[in-house]
Amino acid sequence: MHEFSIACGLVEKLLQFAEENPDKKIIAVRLEVGELSQIEHDQLSFAYESITPETPLESSTLQIETVEAAVECPTCGYHGPPKYWDEALAGTPVATLQCPQCGKAVFAVAGQECAIKSVKFLQSETAAF
Ligand SMILES: [Zn+2]
Repeated sequence: MHEFSIACGLVEKLLQFAEENPDKKIIAVRLEVGELSQIEHDQLSFAYESITPETPLESSTLQIETVEAAVECPTCGYHGPPKYWDEALAGTPVATLQCPQCGKAVFAVAGQECAIKSVKFLQSETAAF
């Protein structure tokens, strides 16, 4: 239930914002989720929808955007997209922390985030986070 705790943290943050801005009604939340964050978008959406009823976020929608991963290799100096592993069960390639050039372990420079990008209010006002 990794996604559930993420959704809880997210909703907590948004509810605090809603409390500080009682005149603003949140209708949509845009979230950036990195390819390397191990977060299932569907599960996160599901968790969000299951926590928000009877809160000021009740009728808001969660929009999830994927942030592409980028890695850096300390062994050969490679910098760029990670090596993707074809996961037959998942149906989509999975980003790995392996160097596509030399096969050694790399570290991620992008793709591990899970952050609120913006919040949309009724009256089409947008706040950047
Ligand atoms: Zn390398």
